[in-house]
Amino acid sequence: MFGVHEPPVDVHKIAEQLDFLVVPYDFPDETSAVLYIHEGVKSIGVNQRHAPVRQRFSIAHELGHYLSGHEDYTERGEGEKIQVDGRFDPSDPQQRLEQEANDFAAELLMPEAMVKEEMARMESFDATILARRFDVSEQALWIRLVGLGLAPE
Ligand SMILES: [Zn+2]
Repeated sequence: MFGVHEPPVDVHKIAEQLDFLVVPYDFPDETSAVLYIHEGVKSIGVNQRHAPVRQRFSIAHELGHYLSGHEDYTERGEGEKIQVDGRFDPSDPQQRLEQEANDFAAELLMPEAMVKEEMARMESFDATILARRFDVSEQALWIRLVGLGLAPE
């Protein structure tokens, strides 16, 4: 997808290809990113105080909301949509959509074929090296590996 053949996937470039303006912003710590669409102008504000790996995931997560056509972001006025993301409450009915956006982000940043290829190239499995190769957090990597059934014993 998006003509990317090897890691790390350039999420800023993909956002740009989708006509998004990515704006680093001093959000409060609990806010990771904000998707904002106004009269066709699309932007993603990302918390610049968060670690770069987290910012990459947050941008991919917002692209997931957008590309999955989640229609539930708050309509604030004509032609204006906003989605604020932070820690989410498991009892929130919106959680399923958050999970979907997270799954999208994981697939975008760690495509299955690429993960398999990189793992096959390693002499011995090393999560730190693999996470660095994909420019993701080790936590995000593990979740993805478990999801793909590729986590080593
Ligand atoms: Zn979200």
